[in-house]
Amino acid sequence: MPKCFLCGNRGNEGRPMLKLDDLHICYQCVEGLNYQMLTSNLGDVAADRLLALVSGTHPEIMPQEGQGSDSPVLDVETKKLDELPTPQQLHRMLDDYVIGQERAKRILCVAVYNHYLRLRQKEDDEGTEIEKSNILMAGSTGSGKTLLAKTLARILDVPFCIADATTLTEAGYVGEDVENIILHLLQAADMNVAKAERGIVYVDEIDKIGRKTQNVSITRDVSGEGVQQALLKIIEGTVCNIPPKGGRKHPNEQYIQVNTENILFICGGAFVGLQDIIRKRLGSSSMGFASIEEDRNTKEYTEEEVLSKAMPEDFFQYGMIPEMMGRLPIFAPLTTLTEDQLVELLTKPKNSLVKQYTKLLAMNGVKLVVEDDALHAMAHLAIERETGARALRGIFENLMLDVMYEVPGDRTIESVTVTRDQVLGHGEPVIARKAQKPARSKKSA
Ligand code: ADP
Repeated sequence: MPKCFLCGNRGNEGRPMLKLDDLHICYQCVEGLNYQMLTSNLGDVAADRLLALVSGTHPEIMPQEGQGSDSPVLDVETKKLDELPTPQQLHRMLDDYVIGQERAKRILCVAVYNHYLRLRQKEDDEGTEIEKSNILMAGSTGSGKTLLAKTLARILDVPFCIADATTLTEAGYVGEDVENIILHLLQAADMNVAKAERGIVYVDEIDKIGRKTQNVSITRDVSGEGVQQALLKIIEGTVCNIPPKGGRKHPNEQYIQVNTENILFICGGAFVGLQDIIRKRLGSSSMGFASIEEDRNTKEYTEEEVLSKAMPEDFFQYGMIPEMMGRLPIFAPLTTLTEDQLVELLTKPKNSLVKQYTKLLAMNGVKLVVEDDALHAMAHLAIERETGARALRGIFENLMLDVMYEVPGDRTIESVTVTRDQVLGHGEPVIARKAQKPARSKKSA
């Protein structure tokens, strides 16, 4: 009987040894799994191969199908530099899904591109180390913060997860442990640690965990500062011990170790009133358009210009701790979407609502027309509701409900037109029916 390469034991309850190239490993070592130990002894690829071999014995920690020995850890790392999308190409890809937010897109694309470079240079190990550049996004609700982060992760084909900062607690308190974020990322990476270690995490509602939060509860950290401190650790890079099944840690449990050093963190929040804070600091009281009588030197800033002048101290007013701001060196401001942009959002992106419903109806042989006026009326309503693009889906889906209910059962419908009146609640969609066959004269055809 050969010796186990890891523990040196020969006996293993009558189960055969696993053989990986020239090495023998007992099932006990694999099952009492310490991934970090395996990778440090065998290297990532061999550890993954080993896990693939025993797949099924340890469902929570086994790599899933297609993650065998030959699968590259991450495309962006195996590609040549000139094969990677440049910031400009990334920007164009984002344009297919995200309307407006040009400045934020630019900032994010450059930051993400630099992040690849950093991952590569770590491998080359040459002198100057490029620091991780986590990103802070601020913009009103429904302006596309989550969408930007999610779309970038999809373009790059890296694991992605969203965490809600308001549900997080310091370790030991009731609520979601900060390290659970990493478990979610690991799950998004099909439990492939190496892949998760290069993923993207979006932490939403970061502005709600300020130090002076009003949230009074006995069971959770009330200050928010503790949560920031805990988040800080994983953002700057640490080795987390992840209970494979999630939930609370138990003393005898085997943990999966994940190093967060190369995980890109994008934090986002609405930071309501941020513009006013910045304007105040800039000493400009101009909140709207300057009148002609006003001093010509009074600089009139647009929303985007104001936000682009944000400084860490502006965020301290939301209770963000200086250490946290230090770990989020890149700031990407998002602007509130205008009526025209909301109209674009309904029609232009690859998976826009109008395109989706057009396709759904076309499958029933019915043409969908949404009048321009109707699109503007919907955008207008969404702005009134002050939830940005979020409201649009509800508005549009509500309008389409009856149509989607009737169309499949009525073969005579040729087209459906959504009008402004319908959006404003004064009418029905205009339905055109196919001409009845016998009635169709040759002349009119
Ligand atoms: P936020 O995170 O800023 O609150 P989300 O990214 O979650 O907003 O957006 C809410 C909804 O609106 C999503 O369905 C998203 O697809 C859509 N949306 C928001 N902003 C944009 C945008 N700029 N372009 C396209 N869709 C958007």
